[in-house]
Amino acid sequence: MNEQKTRNRQTVNWHSFNVDNTIEQLQIDRNDGLSSQEVENRLKKFGNNRLPRPRGRSAWVRFLLQFHNVLIYVMLIAAGITGMLGDWVDTGVLLAAIFINAVIGFVQEGKAEQALDAIRSMLSLHSTVIRNGSRIEIEAEKLVPGDLVMLVSGDKVPADLRLLTSKGLRVNEAILTGESQAVEKTLEPVSPDAPLGDRLCMLYSGTLVVSGQATAIVVETGIHTELGRISAMLAQVQTGTTPLIRQITKFGHWLALVIVLLSGATYATGVLWHHHAPKEMFMMVVALAASAIPEGLPAIMTITLALGVRRMAKRNAIIRQLPAVETLGSVTVICSDKTGTLTRNEMTVQRIITATHVFGVSGVGYAPEGKVDLGGVQVALNEYPELSDIARALVLCNDAQLRKHSDGTWQVIGDPTEGALLAFAAKLGLDAELERSVMPLTDAIPFESEHRLMATLHHQTEDKSIIYVKGAPERIRAMCHIPSDINETPHHSPNDWESKAKEAASSGLRLLAVAVKVVDSTQHEVNFSDLNSGFTLLALVGIIDPPRDEVIMAVAVCNAAGIKVKMITGDHVETARAIGASLGIGLHKHALTGAEIEAMDDDQLQEVVLDVDVFARASPEHKLRLVQALQNTGQIVAMTGDGVNDAPALKRADVGVAMGLKGTEAAKEASDMVLADDNFATIGNAVREGRGIYDNIRKFILFTLPTNGGEALVVIAAILFQLTLPMTPAQILWINMVTSSTLGLALAFESPEFDVMRRQPRDPREPLLSWFFAWRVLMVSILMMAGSLGLFLWEIDRGSSLETARTMAVSAIVGAEMFYLINSRYIYKSVLSLEGLFGNRYALIAIAACAVLQLAYTHASPLQALFNSTDLSYDEWLKVLLVGMTIFLFAELEKVTLYLFRLWRKTAH
Ligand code: ATP
Repeated sequence: MNEQKTRNRQTVNWHSFNVDNTIEQLQIDRNDGLSSQEVENRLKKFGNNRLPRPRGRSAWVRFLLQFHNVLIYVMLIAAGITGMLGDWVDTGVLLAAIFINAVIGFVQEGKAEQALDAIRSMLSLHSTVIRNGSRIEIEAEKLVPGDLVMLVSGDKVPADLRLLTSKGLRVNEAILTGESQAVEKTLEPVSPDAPLGDRLCMLYSGTLVVSGQATAIVVETGIHTELGRISAMLAQVQTGTTPLIRQITKFGHWLALVIVLLSGATYATGVLWHHHAPKEMFMMVVALAASAIPEGLPAIMTITLALGVRRMAKRNAIIRQLPAVETLGSVTVICSDKTGTLTRNEMTVQRIITATHVFGVSGVGYAPEGKVDLGGVQVALNEYPELSDIARALVLCNDAQLRKHSDGTWQVIGDPTEGALLAFAAKLGLDAELERSVMPLTDAIPFESEHRLMATLHHQTEDKSIIYVKGAPERIRAMCHIPSDINETPHHSPNDWESKAKEAASSGLRLLAVAVKVVDSTQHEVNFSDLNSGFTLLALVGIIDPPRDEVIMAVAVCNAAGIKVKMITGDHVETARAIGASLGIGLHKHALTGAEIEAMDDDQLQEVVLDVDVFARASPEHKLRLVQALQNTGQIVAMTGDGVNDAPALKRADVGVAMGLKGTEAAKEASDMVLADDNFATIGNAVREGRGIYDNIRKFILFTLPTNGGEALVVIAAILFQLTLPMTPAQILWINMVTSSTLGLALAFESPEFDVMRRQPRDPREPLLSWFFAWRVLMVSILMMAGSLGLFLWEIDRGSSLETARTMAVSAIVGAEMFYLINSRYIYKSVLSLEGLFGNRYALIAIAACAVLQLAYTHASPLQALFNSTDLSYDEWLKVLLVGMTIFLFAELEKVTLYLFRLWRKTAH
């Protein structure tokens, strides 16, 4: 409705407005943003900030498409022919079969789509805005014209915006202009008829901030944005298929063709050689084709995949690209970031190292509760003036805010490292807001991983300006002169800083140096050229970021699963080693630094890359080189990342993994999977699920092909050996309808087997349809055929009626399939255990449903009339069950034999 209401609004040339005009036009407060009331009003007036969803296929089209497959064509033609011949019962059965097939396919497909839709909505965009005078994060859908938006590098622009302030802002607008080079943005308005690419004061929805930061006003939302206007649809996240499914679908087509040809040959053999009645033979081969063509294969595989992907999403691993599910099972190396992924990203300052002292800081988390002490004795701010200088610097060179919730907990808005610094200052009693108002910020260089520092310029009075800088100690040290008192104090040489820093780092503390420089008061900008020299080092700050407990276990599980875990971090090498060691990564191994990586050429890197597990002071470009080096040694690599510059490495990796919480939109867009909780353990779980899904698909194929094959073999054998046909065409269609649709689906719900993480990663080149597969399919097909046909012939031989023998043959096949479903729960392992037999609720339900249907087939008179079936006695049912059980036991015996054979081969080697 709202979208309709506003569709006819006039287009405004916002790019020709200057900042003041824009503010006036949109009636906003430049500092405080919109009030909640105004947001409500505008939301009502302009609607949500979203594009209409790409229209999927309508339900009708989806239903009709179910009829578009080889099997249905064969059956439709057959129904036509039987109709012309006046054989209404057969026509009815055929049409019913076709209809049921379509309905089942339709429902299954709907389920798969629903599951994928739910996952798409989990990847919604968020934005930081200023409303009611404070900075908050909201869903981008809730943006309204007039909102003040804050952007930093890596963000996706959430609506069309007019720039208010910008610093080094470069934006990639390829989605709108096709130009892949990032554009540098400025504040000046341009002429009303300037083309899109030249409107430098505007930011357009869907484009990506490559570097810098900005504040901007929302001018257009939803369909009124440029993106909405060119009606570009939101990038489709899922494609609905994977290489494996494509491979199987293709296999299915070929199989269908072979079966149609085989049916033709069977028809010819039956009619010309064995002189069966052409009409009966015709129905027979139609039934043969219907039973043998695995028409449900792609549909059920898609469902298995969708259900698996939904299960993964529930456990925080959101798959963006479906093929990644398969690749996950082959991953041999996981390269992980440290902060937030292996560690908790809950920073607390624990140590302050100055030229003369080492202060301890107590307390955990962001609550300003704790003490600063020197040798165990609490100190006050006024006792050590250098402490207040340090705290002030840390508060001013800082972009974060601490907020207290009503439940008493403290939360950081912004970077957790900076939050920890604020908490430290608060423990000393420093009022951050007061400091920020006394020394207002004039300009800043925001923190970026590549530079490893942040600098801010402040004007206190007319004649005093100060630059504060904080960052990685070695970066800051290079721009400082060491305070003179160090040289004057015999116990504190520059080496002393170094040794104290090293000692702090090797106990796992993350280190940050902070320094200050007084500059000319006329300076109103801070640039990298200001950071070369002239700073005074104030202190080193040691911050603890405890490892996540669950990661220790997850790393061990990965190792057992043949997956190596490597840590790639921007942090100091000693800190990285210490944290790595506590998690079981890189123990007793050499660690490499970014500088060392740079000194190596690709060949050298390739040589050492497998032996090193900890890479420190590494930048995003190093990540890319590491992925390449690992891939060149034949590894399948999963790589995590969060920053805009991680995108190339994420794209290059076999499975790119982006962080859902602290990751930028740029990283998410380049990734195959997003971790909703940023947790390394989630990757391990995802690998487990990925392996499980792949297994389920294999299990389904191993279930379906032999059940189809068994029915087909019964018919072929009967025709070839000139036997009375053990089943009528209608009966074969019954088996197919009842069993293949109800039973097989239960395998999609299998949880990963308990030993999936004890297997080695799957070789991605390994074909799905291996010799083992062919053997298993053939063996079970023959068992089914032998059981059903054997029972039929025996009954005829005993003098049972044809109806009884046929009913028993049909029930034997159905029964065997029910038993074989349980066999199929594990591919190699025996199911003879409580868990193996009863562990899958869905399998039990499916078997029960199938049993009820088969009882109805045998004993309900309408079905007896339709299918020529007849009542069976207890004895006869017992024989049917015995056939099923024998097949079950044979299938289990094969697993044991296979196991022993493997064991023998292993020991023989
Ligand atoms: P990972 O790459 O595993 O996430 P990391 O978070 O430690 O590791 P970066 O965020 O790139 O890596 O930080 C690298 C270094 O930059 C840190 O060791 C620290 O010295 C410094 N640093 C981190 N955050 C800030 C910040 N907000 N301001 C200034 N310097 C920082």
